[in-house]
Amino acid sequence: MTRPYNFSAGPAALPQEVLEQAAAEMLDWHGSGMSVMEMSHRGREFMSIRDQAETDLRELLAVPSHFHVLFMQGGGLAENAIVPLNLSRGGNVDFVVTGSWSAKSFKEARRYCNAHLAASNEADGHTGMPDRWQLNGNAAYVHVCTNETIHGVEFQELPDLKALGSDAPLVIDCSSHIASRPIDWSRVGLAFAGAQKNIGPAGLTLVFVREDLVGHALGVCPSAFDYKTVAENHSMYNTPPTYAIYMAGLVFQWLKRQGGVAGMEARSIEKAGLLYDYIDTSGYYVNKVDKRCRSRMNVPFFLPDDALNDSFLAGARDRGLLQLKGHKSVGGMRASIYNAMPLAGVQALVGYMREFAARHG
Ligand SMILES: *Cc1c(COP(=O)(O)O)cnc(C)c1O
Repeated sequence: MTRPYNFSAGPAALPQEVLEQAAAEMLDWHGSGMSVMEMSHRGREFMSIRDQAETDLRELLAVPSHFHVLFMQGGGLAENAIVPLNLSRGGNVDFVVTGSWSAKSFKEARRYCNAHLAASNEADGHTGMPDRWQLNGNAAYVHVCTNETIHGVEFQELPDLKALGSDAPLVIDCSSHIASRPIDWSRVGLAFAGAQKNIGPAGLTLVFVREDLVGHALGVCPSAFDYKTVAENHSMYNTPPTYAIYMAGLVFQWLKRQGGVAGMEARSIEKAGLLYDYIDTSGYYVNKVDKRCRSRMNVPFFLPDDALNDSFLAGARDRGLLQLKGHKSVGGMRASIYNAMPLAGVQALVGYMREFAARHG
């Protein structure tokens, strides 16, 4: 069976091998007589699934032992509230806005703390890196979205806050590029990621938080969202999203078989390189993002005339190239080429784009 190539920004395609394994284990996980969905989250079977998932995740991302790994719920948007509830102490927080997601985080945080806009690329339509950062001397943390899923702007390197004159911990929303490149933990205080882009099904949120940052939640923080409570209970304070954790665990094992994060990074460079090179030399399609911060995961592009968009999308669907429509706030097209997208999928997309340009150019 050959499946279409799915370019959805999220929930996004999962590796076929993972889906096949989940299907094979659906009714009876490892002779337990139960589907993973039917197991007690405190039972021996599920505990082994959870522990293996955390072990593999820590290994894949080289997470230092002084970081908690939390399996939470609520997605990236809930973290926009949960992070300030836990880390801000109601004080000053710096935000760097590079696209829709960091703008949303900034807006939500204002409900819980003195959120301050330290830098923004709004003037160039969220296509470049903000050059001047004005960090608050006493910020509780600095928030950055390291890959803007909608605008296609990605930090190629994590900011070095110390070099910028700030001692505040860096908080990164890495939802849409986690596990596609290594994370320099020496620069990070907290990282969060909704699972549905590059890790597994929607419903699971990964949080990595330095131990010393935990235990300072505001009184109004719900217990189930207090990192201290979640950490002390090994993400089992309330029933965790068990099936999503199991699926993420299968993805982690798949990633290890593919050469881990280093393997994924090499593949991402090749896939994104192929697509951007074609767009830039096509004389037909355009990507407006500064080359220094183009996302390897989310590639927005435009046809010369929006009137052709529907025809482009229909032709793509006919060729098994799905979900290429751009986000409504940006328009045009967007190809999300996460870890599960094989090189052959990007080659098929470029082949179709060439054919379409020749017909309409
Ligand atoms: C998708 C996404 C989110 C939102 O995730 P939800 O699970 O819908 O809350 C937040 N940040 C980034 C960078 C995303 O790509």
